[in-house]
Amino acid sequence: MIPSASIRSAACGLLFLCLCACSAGTAFAPSAVFAPSPSGGRTPTQTPSGATVADPAATTASAPEPAPSPRERPLYRIEAVLDTLLTTGGNGGMMSLTVREEVTYTNHSAESIPGLVLQFEPARRSELFELLSLSANRASQTAPASIENGQLRIPLDAPLAPGETVWLRLEYRRLIAQEDATIGWNDYQIVLGDWYASFPPYREGKGWLAHAPGKVGEHLSFPYADFDILLDVQSDTAYRVAASGVSEAGGTPHHFLFTGRSFAFALTTQIPFIRTAGNVEILGYTRPHYEAQGKIIADIAARSVEIFSERFGAYPHSRFTVLESELPDGMEYDGLVFLNPDLFPDYTGNGADYLTAITAHETAHQWWYGRVGNDQAIDPWLDESFAVYSELIFYERAYPSLVDWWWWTRVDRYPSHQCVDHPIYQFTRFRDYVDTVYLRGATMLHALRQQMGNQAFAESLRELQSTGLGAVMTSADVFRIFQAHSAVPLYTIWDAYLCLPPPHG
Ligand SMILES: [Zn+2]
Repeated sequence: MIPSASIRSAACGLLFLCLCACSAGTAFAPSAVFAPSPSGGRTPTQTPSGATVADPAATTASAPEPAPSPRERPLYRIEAVLDTLLTTGGNGGMMSLTVREEVTYTNHSAESIPGLVLQFEPARRSELFELLSLSANRASQTAPASIENGQLRIPLDAPLAPGETVWLRLEYRRLIAQEDATIGWNDYQIVLGDWYASFPPYREGKGWLAHAPGKVGEHLSFPYADFDILLDVQSDTAYRVAASGVSEAGGTPHHFLFTGRSFAFALTTQIPFIRTAGNVEILGYTRPHYEAQGKIIADIAARSVEIFSERFGAYPHSRFTVLESELPDGMEYDGLVFLNPDLFPDYTGNGADYLTAITAHETAHQWWYGRVGNDQAIDPWLDESFAVYSELIFYERAYPSLVDWWWWTRVDRYPSHQCVDHPIYQFTRFRDYVDTVYLRGATMLHALRQQMGNQAFAESLRELQSTGLGAVMTSADVFRIFQAHSAVPLYTIWDAYLCLPPPHG
């Protein structure tokens, strides 16, 4: 957590960044220092729009801070204030989120990093975003920082050498519109999905794995990170706070300590359905008129956590939450996933429905995305095909009589002949993307299983999960591990399904 007093003192002695205005028509300036609001709350003081220099007292007062300690993983210490009182604007009014964020990052690669790049989705909607301050201990004094297309770029005074650590602090305000987006609200839920600035993975020889959105698919990737988050909810509505993690002992603001791939919130007035899977608490949330579906998704999520924990390795957190949400289809975050209510009407209650399959799918992302990460824009098959195939693993155990139903309903009736390993940018239609990367990808994994045998295939999945825990895997990792467990060559299958198969021999 970041108490207000420590933030104020930390603002002294920093190099405040010059920030160029790269988003069309939007001038960002480091225009504020951290200071208490007149009411004694934690709202930052903001200078008039267009100011370019931080409070002189904040930049000249004290000696530089000591160098930050190296971290095994990126550390995000965040203090967020969510105000649900609607102000005018947008369709139905705007809520607001004010964030103070401190990030510590150690270069664990073997090469020097010339500059910092952070994924910064809250800034993508420039009309809803306001940067209040930005500082970093190693920022260049001559080259400006920039925010463009949802990315924050900070040139450094000198490249960040292997083993060196950098920190940055930023404060921003994001208005929250009534919309079905990863930051949005509706009459029963507030979603805070990609709401903070985060480092993408850094890969030697390639640099930061920071990508633009595609027409389909997900473009953000995350290294495993540590989170220390305070969330203060200012509201007259009694929201339940669903989150990637479990808050520390009661009270407000809510305090979360979490290690994982990402951290999302959903504040909701929905009904919770509580289950357990071993030592894991399962929470399902739906609106009251979907009570039957709420029980189903909680049941399926719990059964999925049991099966996947046994097959792949333990679920790494103490709680898993699945919520009905207006986000399209399903959407995964670490510890928390969303399911669109379009899945609800056709449920049968006997497993033969998309509600069951997609609940298992989103739960599987806790392993293929959460425990083991990937470059989601360039290698989407590395999580999606494995998540679809995990649906089959779920059905084989939970509903063996429905395996044939699953193959036809979910996979075989949507044939594709494109390369499974296409990046998201190869596709313009969601159906083509799913048919290829998800479904043909699952068909490829099944061919591998038939070629190498059930045991070798199961061992390969388990090793991917054990050696990849907390990492960002590549296709080369997958090729190597599958072949290591197979008594027969696998290249004929890779060749048949991939544009970039492994070299033979
Ligand atoms: Zn998926």
